[in-house]
Amino acid sequence: FKTMEHEIRLALQRDEFTLHYQPKLNLETGEVVGAEALLRWRHRDRGMVPPSDIIAIAEASGLIQPIGAWVLRQSCAQIKKWQALGLPAIPIAVNTSALQFKRSGLLDVVSDAISEAGILPEFLELEITESVAMDRTGASANVIKQLCDLGVQITIDDFGTDFATFRLLTDIPVNGIKIDRSFVHKMTRDSKNAAIVKAIILMGRDLNLSVVAEGVETEAEHRFLRSHGCEQVQGWHFSRALPPDQFVEWYQSMHQPSLATVISQ
Ligand code: C2E
Ligand code: MG
Ligand code: MG
Repeated sequence: FKTMEHEIRLALQRDEFTLHYQPKLNLETGEVVGAEALLRWRHRDRGMVPPSDIIAIAEASGLIQPIGAWVLRQSCAQIKKWQALGLPAIPIAVNTSALQFKRSGLLDVVSDAISEAGILPEFLELEITESVAMDRTGASANVIKQLCDLGVQITIDDFGTDFATFRLLTDIPVNGIKIDRSFVHKMTRDSKNAAIVKAIILMGRDLNLSVVAEGVETEAEHRFLRSHGCEQVQGWHFSRALPPDQFVEWYQSMHQPSLATVISQ
């Protein structure tokens, strides 16, 4: 554990972290409506290390603070780069950890990242988990409100898998929810999971939230979500998370009408 912590610290200094971007699509039009930034570590010996090997240690050691700040700055800079390339503005969603909300300073980190990059705040989206929103002291809820006032979008990730209390949807300003992959994965074969997914879609629509189904892997899942009116999708069926250059290539190929129809069929 200690060695890993040391290695992660070095990785940050040596600039070995990178972000891959997974597209989010509007299910009806097939248009790319955003991207999620996902952390990767270009390890000298081990190749690309996934976040599951990084985040828990980074959280336990407090390293999630500098890593999280780096992810925010990098994502804001990426929004600007894609705009400079002439792509229609693509909002980027950044994952956050509960610790980033508990310690002070997140608001400054976010507003500095936005102003340094020179982007509009609404192009940055923060994905929070239910546990962040349910922080009993109310401190995190306060930060969320301030972030919302700043103009950034707030989305609840892995919706329905943690505290799953509906009150947070009324108590904090939320723009969207992401239906957890575990429900999406089973919904076409299991009626309970199907019922949960349908209920989240309906609730999201009535609450005026954008609803994203994540981890869509098959055409059957794609059809199910379409027939139940899910607004947005993300998953390997459409694209994996890609390095920035490949994301642009993929984006351009998607927006040639002949290919875009594949998705909206
Ligand atoms: P998440 O935010 O729920 O991200 C979705 C994860 O599902 C990503 O895994 C993505 O690559 C994966 N995924 C996407 N489509 C599919 C699919 O169709 N099938 C399957 N089986 N998986 C799919 P990844 O990149 O390994 O990230 C795992 C988790 O690590 C993320 O879950 C997020 O909670 C966390 N994470 C990633 N980057 C960051 C970061 O910069 N900061 C923080 N705090 N957490 C991060
Ligand atoms: Mg996420
Ligand atoms: Mg998720």
